[in-house]
Amino acid sequence: MEGTVFNIQRYSIDDGPGIRTTVFLKGCPLRCPWCSNPESQSFAPQLSYRYTSCLKCGACAAACPNGAIELLSDGLSIDREKCSACGTCVKACVNGALELKGSVMTVEQVWKVIRRDLVYYETSGGGVTCSGGEILSQPDFVAAIFEKCRGEGVHTCADTSGFGSREALDKILKYTDLVYFDLKHPDPKRHAELLGADATTVRSNLRYISEKGVALTLRVPLIPEYNNSAEDVDALARLARELAPGAAVSILPYHRYGESKYAAVGMKYALGALRENTEAELERAAAAFERCGFNCEVSR
Ligand code: SF4
Ligand code: SF4
Repeated sequence: MEGTVFNIQRYSIDDGPGIRTTVFLKGCPLRCPWCSNPESQSFAPQLSYRYTSCLKCGACAAACPNGAIELLSDGLSIDREKCSACGTCVKACVNGALELKGSVMTVEQVWKVIRRDLVYYETSGGGVTCSGGEILSQPDFVAAIFEKCRGEGVHTCADTSGFGSREALDKILKYTDLVYFDLKHPDPKRHAELLGADATTVRSNLRYISEKGVALTLRVPLIPEYNNSAEDVDALARLARELAPGAAVSILPYHRYGESKYAAVGMKYALGALRENTEAELERAAAAFERCGFNCEVSR
């Protein structure tokens, strides 16, 4: 069993209870404009270029078999149409400015990383989280990782947007202890326009998980100008109450931490100079969910 992974993060403390290892899968059918992992969106491996580490030596351009790299006075120009993600330039670079985002791994290879931290999971109440990208796009791989974890007594958390087939969801839920589920927009039309994904599928999957009684935390990215108004947060809280009344809720304030990663993989950050949330907006959102009966925290 193999899957495409773009990062395995050890000692993670934001992706579930305790100290965790988070396996980030490559590939997502959604296009959230505020995505902080743009390198997760494409299903294929991608070349990432960090300008600040580049010595402008030209070794990568000389090594590339496809002529995809040109050395300019202010850094590299990478022709991503020509790039086949072969990794030759990554090996040629002496300063770590180039990296391939995404590689095919077996479950055993992933488990070898996971098992290094078994003692931390035990002492902290942690475990393993699969995130993305969208885990429902690689359900057999995630299910196999979680099955292995379950067999070894390691807690499992599935972090999902909920956009995927019921069959995929069932495969993963079979071995899942906790679901982190993104609740992004209350209006189905805006949901489809903004994210490129049908809200009906997402909502139906959320209700299904809730009714199955799997432990569930709703994660609400609060994005100024997108879902941050009093009207939107009230509607989101009512929607959460209708679909998953027993869930915990975590508000995720907007941040720009992923912005520099866009340029590195040749993408444009769509939100430009969007401001961060005010404290009053965060408190207003938390209060909206608490009025609907939820235990709500604001993630910092
Ligand atoms: S990954 Fe391969 S094809 Fe792409 S720029 Fe580097 S050497 Fe060229
Ligand atoms: S080999 Fe590395 S340091 Fe040299 S030009 Fe290419 S990216 Fe920059």
